[in-house]
Amino acid sequence: MNKQIADAPHSPLTLLSEDERLFRDSVYAFADREVRPLIREMDEQAKIPRDLIRKLFDLGVMAIEIPEVHGGGGATFFHSILAVESFSRVDPSVGVFVDVQNTLMINALQRWGSEEQKGRYFPLLATHAIGAYALSESGSGSDAFALATRAVDRGDHWALTGRKLWITNAGEADLFIVFATVDPDAGYRGITAFLVERGFPGFSVGKKEDKLGIRASSTCELLLEDCQVPRANVLGEVGKGYRTAIETLNEGRIAIGAQMIGLAQGALDHTIQYTSERKQFGKPIAEFQAVQHQLARAATEIHAARLMVYEAARLRDAGQPFLTQAAMCKLFSSEVAERVTSLCVNLYGGYGFVKDYPVEKLYRDAKIGQIYEGTSNLQLQTIAKQILG
Ligand SMILES: Cc1cc2nc3c(=O)[nH]c(=O)nc-3n(C[C@H](O)[C@H](O)[C@H](O)COP(=O)(O)OP(=O)(O)OC[C@H]3O[C@@H](n4cnc5c(N)ncnc54)[C@H](O)[C@@H]3O)c2cc1C
Repeated sequence: MNKQIADAPHSPLTLLSEDERLFRDSVYAFADREVRPLIREMDEQAKIPRDLIRKLFDLGVMAIEIPEVHGGGGATFFHSILAVESFSRVDPSVGVFVDVQNTLMINALQRWGSEEQKGRYFPLLATHAIGAYALSESGSGSDAFALATRAVDRGDHWALTGRKLWITNAGEADLFIVFATVDPDAGYRGITAFLVERGFPGFSVGKKEDKLGIRASSTCELLLEDCQVPRANVLGEVGKGYRTAIETLNEGRIAIGAQMIGLAQGALDHTIQYTSERKQFGKPIAEFQAVQHQLARAATEIHAARLMVYEAARLRDAGQPFLTQAAMCKLFSSEVAERVTSLCVNLYGGYGFVKDYPVEKLYRDAKIGQIYEGTSNLQLQTIAKQILG
């Protein structure tokens, strides 16, 4: 074992440094003040208002890990996890909006981008540019490397043709990481990542999905018709895009775990307050032991999920292997989020089933955790592969 780690004081996973605690508390205070009043409107209109997006940039949460020299916060992956958790406790759509910017776009550019690309795009991403990550297609979801989008070498540029589906943030995004194959016969070895600007010729954003949950988060189709991408916009090496995809998604799924624990905590917060006020049989329903035990079980499950998410994130920041922990934390947190929000709807009774109260929406929002960035079956497959050797 690495000596530095072996010698490090063993602090509890949830014990935050002063800096981490201040960061988390300021993000949550912002979300409570600026996001909470907009939740219903954002869900109904299926939109995050531009004014709120501007405030997110001003707060610095759209550039958490961008080095300070490029105008970002120069913070850690763990800080991004705290931000996603804190936003999702109020609204999981804003949580995933911040998540994609930080743990997919900025993370991939930081790891795989050239110095020239970082110098060109980080200052934009730190001030106003929104990022999106485009891997999935209609025919390739779990089997992501069966993608059909084609990149053809045209000398001074690459020409991309194909369609991407389900792209988070695409409604607002300025910059997209698009995965395409330079050689369909080469299988995954043909896959290459490109940095595609919204204004490139041949690029357009198509249909926006009308979704069950996280409705304010835009999910759209991308149309690439002979889209001209400069040679300088290949992210990493030609034919190595599969590594970029695998490795960023391994990290990204820790953030989906964070989205799910934030969401579940938010639902539980509401439900603790509601059950303490709602009276039946002459007393608050939280005074019935059956209800107390259900709330206690929910709190325990969220705590266990949070330990798993924090552990995976801290392992990642320590440069240690975290593949299994990332898959486990996403699998478990998304199941906890579904169970806890379902319980919360039950404990609100009829009021849990209507939009005037907050838990109905969180119940809908929870479902996505078991689908995107690798379905639960795919997480189980990853875990099984690791434990079976
Ligand atoms: C709201 C939303 C946002 C999204 N955002 C993005 C984004 O920003 N960028 C992006 O690239 N993609 C995005 N996605 C796509 C998402 O990652 C895929 O939907 C997901 O990976 C599943 O792929 P699929 O929908 O094609 O389902 P399929 O792969 O067809 O899976 C259908 C079912 O079959 C199961 N299954 C498939 N293969 C196996 C197997 N080998 N063993 C066992 N079971 C299996 C799955 O677990 C699932 O239950 C988003 C999707 C949604 C809904």
